Amino acid sequence: MVRRTSDLPPAESKLQNWAYDLNGRVPINWSIKAQGLARAAAILYARGQDARRLKASVFSRDAMGLLVARSQPFTPEELDVFPDVEMYRVAFMLLGMAIENLTKGILVGRNPTWVQDGALNKLVTGHDLESLVRRCDVVVEGEDRVALRMLTEHVVWAGRYHIPRSADRIARLTTKQKLRAQSDEYLDAVFNFGERLIAQLDVLLDDEHTAEKTAERVALAQAPPAPPTSDDKPKDFFDPSKPRFCPYCSRPVVFPILSARPGPQGNGKTVTLHDPQHPAPVCDRWVRAQEADAYGLALHVFAGRTGEPFLFVAPV
Ligand SMILES: [Zn+2]
Repeated sequence: MVRRTSDLPPAESKLQNWAYDLNGRVPINWSIKAQGLARAAAILYARGQDARRLKASVFSRDAMGLLVARSQPFTPEELDVFPDVEMYRVAFMLLGMAIENLTKGILVGRNPTWVQDGALNKLVTGHDLESLVRRCDVVVEGEDRVALRMLTEHVVWAGRYHIPRSADRIARLTTKQKLRAQSDEYLDAVFNFGERLIAQLDVLLDDEHTAEKTAERVALAQAPPAPPTSDDKPKDFFDPSKPRFCPYCSRPVVFPILSARPGPQGNGKTVTLHDPQHPAPVCDRWVRAQEADAYGLALHVFAGRTGEPFLFVAPV
């Protein structure tokens, strides 16, 4: 029987958390998982493309423009590969998961305290690849962004379910973008982009293994447990006087303060906030964003990010 954490004696539970933190904070561990996923993705993708090529070779058009099947029967090998024409979906999911692992490895390398007390910070539990990649300071633009979004959708649902958790998720890609996925050239473009991005992220992840970074992780592992803090943002992260705005319609947004008390060692304040309040009329996109990920939305408004709208991921 597997014991739940709460059943463990305190010392054992502490040790378990310590080992978890140590494992979680080492970027290469995330990278090893990513490698396996990316390799599996490549194998399945090649298989799926074999099936698609076979399907294309079996059917042709006659003089009237009608679809005709070739006359000779399938060979046993062809019969085996033929059902795999949709395999690219699983390959996209795995490739996206490899990207997800690499970005998370980079982010925990840069912010080791995001793995703390046996748990991952919410900043590294989402599946929104666009957001994760952006937070690694990698710029993805134009068609590549559409490709990245397509990979996200396959990680979140399209690689593993026939429908998403809710209908509005389907609208994240336009019909035109989805129709393009019927062409082998487009699928190749998405897959090749994913592999290029992985190569780029590999370099960034390796950068997290300098002697200084490693020493920092070791020091953190040896440090006595810190008093719990509400977050690990910079000290000036919360400035109540700073105006905040809806990222979609730019109306001013307020964070009602539920409670405020002196922070640890009398430094600053520990403030508990309510969800951000949007003035009437509340715009549609705000409502959707809040339904999908209230925490992510609050964080987005809070950190005062500007520019392109945040893409929200519903918790899966
Ligand atoms: Zn708004």
